[in-house]
Amino acid sequence: MAEAVATVEIPGYGNGFVSAGKGQTIRLTDIAGHQVADLWAFNAEDSDEYLGAAITRMLTGRMFPELGGAFMSTRDRPILTWTKDTSPGHHDMLFASCCDRLYARRGHAGHPNCRDNYFAAAVRAGIGRAHIPDPVNIFQNTPPRPDGSFFYGVAMSDAGDHVEFRAEIDCIVIVTACSSESINAGRSTPLRLETFGARGGRRAGQPSSSFRTRPRASRTAARRTPQRPMSP
Ligand SMILES: [Zn+2]
Repeated sequence: MAEAVATVEIPGYGNGFVSAGKGQTIRLTDIAGHQVADLWAFNAEDSDEYLGAAITRMLTGRMFPELGGAFMSTRDRPILTWTKDTSPGHHDMLFASCCDRLYARRGHAGHPNCRDNYFAAAVRAGIGRAHIPDPVNIFQNTPPRPDGSFFYGVAMSDAGDHVEFRAEIDCIVIVTACSSESINAGRSTPLRLETFGARGGRRAGQPSSSFRTRPRASRTAARRTPQRPMSP
């Protein structure tokens, strides 16, 4: 792919955001491996419209969209289409972001956390909403078990693994490098957020309706690696 239009380096325990025009590609890269990224997307013109995790689950009939499918906004339309995944494919859209009280309960008062990081980035991005939407937790390996409880696994992404999305409207994408030591293999490490392509306009050969309900490509079984169990 051509050179990035914008690049934002997000340190471990940190946050960042990019503005992406409709049709641009957003790439999120795990730099060192085993790092969860909490992600939010807002309409750049009106932050009352944002990526709705529950709405996406309802409209896709899944706990997480298939590759090639869309994340839906609070106005029931695609905001991001998931176009690429080089990771083993473990992602979550059931967990809220980690927060100060969660760590305080575990005896780590004042620990960095995704909720504070989200608000810090949202202020810089000009998003003044008082509440944090539920995030999309890229690379998070915490699937539900058959009995309804959650499995807490370390993120299985390797260094350099990345996901890509196509912006379906002009949007602002906020990302935090999750601060949890347990699900991030001991410490929070950097992420890179980039945009590619021209703003606006369709690419040649792309259908006018870019919302796909069927996957563009299926993951290969060879990339699947065993989950690594651990205690919460
Ligand atoms: Zn977190």
